[in-house]
Amino acid sequence: MTVRRIEKSQPTLSPNMPAWDDTYRGFRWADARALIDGLPAGGMNIAHEAVDRHIAHGRGEHVAIRWLGKTGETVDLSYAELARRSNRFANVLRKLGLHTGDKVFCLSGRVPELYVAALGTFKAQCVFAPLFSAFGPEPIAQRMRLGGANLLLTTQALLKRKVAGLLDQFPGLKVLLVDGAAEGAVSLRAEMERASDHFTIAPTDPETLALLHFTSGTTGTPKGAMHVHEAVVAHNYSGRVALDLHPDDIYWCTADPGWVTGTSYGIIAPLCNGVTSIVDEAEFDATRWYDILEQQKISVWYTAPTAIRRLMKLGAEPVKAHDLSALRYMASVGEPLNPEAVRWGNEVFGMPFHDNWWQTETGAIMISNYASMDVKPGSMGRPLPGIEAAIVQVEGDTARVIEQPGVQGELAIRRGWPSMFRGYLGQEERYRKCFKGDWYVSGDLAKRDEEGYFWFVGRSDDVIKSAGHLIGPFEVESALVEHPAVNEAGVIGIPEETAGEIVKAFVALKPGFAPSDDLKLEIMAHARKQLGPAVAPRDIEFRDELPKTKSGKIMRRLLKARELGLPEGDLSTLEKSE
Ligand code: ATP
Ligand code: MG
Repeated sequence: MTVRRIEKSQPTLSPNMPAWDDTYRGFRWADARALIDGLPAGGMNIAHEAVDRHIAHGRGEHVAIRWLGKTGETVDLSYAELARRSNRFANVLRKLGLHTGDKVFCLSGRVPELYVAALGTFKAQCVFAPLFSAFGPEPIAQRMRLGGANLLLTTQALLKRKVAGLLDQFPGLKVLLVDGAAEGAVSLRAEMERASDHFTIAPTDPETLALLHFTSGTTGTPKGAMHVHEAVVAHNYSGRVALDLHPDDIYWCTADPGWVTGTSYGIIAPLCNGVTSIVDEAEFDATRWYDILEQQKISVWYTAPTAIRRLMKLGAEPVKAHDLSALRYMASVGEPLNPEAVRWGNEVFGMPFHDNWWQTETGAIMISNYASMDVKPGSMGRPLPGIEAAIVQVEGDTARVIEQPGVQGELAIRRGWPSMFRGYLGQEERYRKCFKGDWYVSGDLAKRDEEGYFWFVGRSDDVIKSAGHLIGPFEVESALVEHPAVNEAGVIGIPEETAGEIVKAFVALKPGFAPSDDLKLEIMAHARKQLGPAVAPRDIEFRDELPKTKSGKIMRRLLKARELGLPEGDLSTLEKSE
């Protein structure tokens, strides 16, 4: 694989981590712990690090969250205001009878109350469990059942459309409504008005459960990953070095808090780092996004490949038509980022997208490209200081580390980092199986090169075995999207007698291109040239769109099930399953 280094535009601030090698070598987690304050009364609480401590440091009036409503309104919440409101919310939970460890589920769009609720829940030492607001009733019920919901915070409209019919399944559940009132539900506004804005966070054991996050369900039924308050050490530190957050940054994480990125990096990490975090209530819209980048003077932008592909579809013109001079750092997570997207960023925005890798289970960024480091397009980067990542071969109950560079194997992380999940709720055996000795085995395949950069190959379930070759779908997809007509590609293996499996690609075209046999042959020829005949797809099928999870990830398992007429499995996370 060729490696092309990118010339980055001159950074306007010196990076928080000037040299990865030096920091990585000498790093101890105690160094990251020293960057948070801890509770005055002892212990560690996410909300204290994210909000209250900034007041003690004289930054209470700095804007913590700027909320952009769908219809053009703007609400600014300073750190001091966020502290008062989250105190009130913690008091409301207490008044409603919730105790340490009780589960606060939240089903709402991106409204200010959601952010207040998350932080107030941490303060009260309850567990915050966000649900993506586009879920239908069954996925909502499934997660609330598994999680043992004590309280649901939602809106009138969502209650009526999705939850009302489920309530008899949850007899003890308290329902708190963001807007207005309804029978059997408590009005948040009325309770907040009555509540005191003083709340003292009780000494919090760092191992206290803080978050219950469901995985995206790309490969099957979602799992409920449990995270504790100690995770804040990794959130704060990774926000600082992987996203290069500085206190005067205006930062925009485009992920919804229904997914782990939207809480770890849409709430906790940015607030811990004292930035102004932009929250946009509206759904993706390219024009709106470019306007936000310009008008809000976003300096650090954290987004996902699915959004980047949608922007790439529209080309360079919209970028040129906006003044994006405030933007200094762009990052991406959630799916593999094709080298083509990194190069596009560099050409069009004058800086690369910095890919990073992590999972719901890891709680925080594990492998990343950093501001001070050269970016190799197509690589996820190098481990976060404190994280020991390796390529391993699993043999029974043990994981053997593959030291030799360039060899494909399972991507594993040595256990014990602060934001490591502490369990899959209700699935202890499944949790145990993720660990082989000291290693957490991620379920993704990757390679490491001589310089310690990691390269994603595919999920272990998606890897294709064809005529003695192990083919990672990502490599094939990346070659396909380099063709000027191709916007997105999903690659799967189809069983075949002689080769074992053959490679088949599903391709969505850019505007201005129409499916035809000629185009198919041209794309196949392009892929053969890039990949060689053994790896290139034998067949290509055009699709208007590829099936995706609600969080925007291509669902290869569904392409395969439909192709082979197999059961489609859990579809509750499919983009359009409502
Ligand atoms: P499920 O576990 O329910 O199937 P999921 O794995 O998609 O869903 P998440 O925890 O949201 O749920 O996603 C983590 C996964 O996303 C990673 O294991 C990896 O497969 C993929 N991923 C995330 N970031 C990257 C990246 N930068 N490059 C490649 N893959 C990535
Ligand atoms: Mg997963």
